[in-house]
Amino acid sequence: MNIIILGAGVVGTTQAYYLAKKGYKVTVFERHEGPALDTSYGNAGQISPGYATPWAAPGIPLKAIKWMLEEHAPLAIRPTADLNQYKFMWNMFLNCTSSKYAVNKSRLVRLSEYSRDCLVQLRKDTDIYYENRSLGTTQVLRTAKQMEAIKADIEILEKFNVPYEVLDQDGILKVEPGLKESVHKLAGALRLPGDETGDCFLFTNRLADIAKGMGVEFKFGQNIEDILVEHNKVTGIKANGVVHTADIFVDCLGTYTPFLLKKIGIKAPIYPLKGYSLTAPIIDETSAPTSTILDETYKIAITRFDNRIRIGGMAEISGYNLNLNPKRRKTLEFVTNDLYPGGGDLPKAEFWTGLRPKTPDSTPIIGGTEYTNFFINAGHGTLGWTQSCGSGAYLSDIIAGNKPEIDTEGLDISRYK
Ligand SMILES: Cc1cc2nc3c(=O)[nH]c(=O)nc-3n(C[C@H](O)[C@H](O)[C@H](O)COP(=O)(O)OP(=O)(O)OC[C@H]3O[C@@H](n4cnc5c(N)ncnc54)[C@H](O)[C@@H]3O)c2cc1C
Repeated sequence: MNIIILGAGVVGTTQAYYLAKKGYKVTVFERHEGPALDTSYGNAGQISPGYATPWAAPGIPLKAIKWMLEEHAPLAIRPTADLNQYKFMWNMFLNCTSSKYAVNKSRLVRLSEYSRDCLVQLRKDTDIYYENRSLGTTQVLRTAKQMEAIKADIEILEKFNVPYEVLDQDGILKVEPGLKESVHKLAGALRLPGDETGDCFLFTNRLADIAKGMGVEFKFGQNIEDILVEHNKVTGIKANGVVHTADIFVDCLGTYTPFLLKKIGIKAPIYPLKGYSLTAPIIDETSAPTSTILDETYKIAITRFDNRIRIGGMAEISGYNLNLNPKRRKTLEFVTNDLYPGGGDLPKAEFWTGLRPKTPDSTPIIGGTEYTNFFINAGHGTLGWTQSCGSGAYLSDIIAGNKPEIDTEGLDISRYK
């Protein structure tokens, strides 16, 4: 049975690996000249099931108004002429109730925990190395109010048996000694020891090589222009003017999913949530993070790779634009200097931006569609690296007609009908 995957980001590449493992003949079409050159290129590097949190949360609408006046705000809104931007914001607003937050968070934790377990197994099966560490995430909290607010998250962590620790300043220094200059600014931390880190670009490229060894064919430099349908089936895709046919098709186009799906009448509510990162060489080991620290105030993560740190975060709702805003670089540098002064060589850092494929309820869309042979694995928002392996394994089971290893509730596109 032949399968075509649309897109070779981290999601498309892991999807290819899991389908090849089940014996399918897989071909991946990608417009760039290699894997992970879009949103999967420079993300913050966290595999963070413990921090799998919807952006739409109680209190966010009020905070968003406050953030509009702040220099280093985690969220910025730039109005565009695109109606979808307003639809997305309205639907995100509707998800900011406590009850919706709890449902969305539990879906994210379910998939993310499973995904981390799949990644651990994949490492055992392949010996893949991507500057990975299994040393947890430390979510640092600067105020007593933030310490109070994590109680709601802890309830859900307990419900899903996700291990956690609440740390005071001494506890923070034991796991992240590089915070020695700044720990006095912190009220405490929530530590998630089961979280991991690693370079998503390296992982995707190395997994693509492994998948090639399993028979997967990658066709790069292929711009997919159309999807061809007959009745309730997809018959082919058109890329660079040429039609390619297969038995099954899987959309892994991330942020760009809505454009092609609209042509076949599928409304996928995915909208870009722009983020930025800096990747800096380490100057002083003792002033660098050991794993990931996540600054809850600025929603910025600082992650350790081998000899580099990656500082990632920020959210701009500003449409499909990839301009590098120098103000965002300043914020990333400000938070790094505030927590790890002297840790990274910031003037030498690579500055990057990417468009997270965000759904209004923060949960990805994974599963079948009204076309019997067309599946979606997209919309992972802030958690695509974390959830890639689980999403690929889960959808491979569905495609193969097996019972997935996690509950399917609320994961496919039917939740929007
Ligand atoms: C600043 C930042 C920090 C982040 N930090 C984290 C983190 O720490 N942990 C985490 O889990 N997630 C993080 N994320 C989110 C994560 O990076 C994304 O969710 C993930 O990369 C999405 O992967 P994807 O494969 O769905 O999309 P992509 O990587 O964008 O892949 C989609 C592919 O489809 C291709 N494509 C699109 N249209 C076409 C077409 N017409 N023809 C052919 N090819 C096409 C694109 O070129 C692209 O390669 C972060 C994101 C950002 C921006």
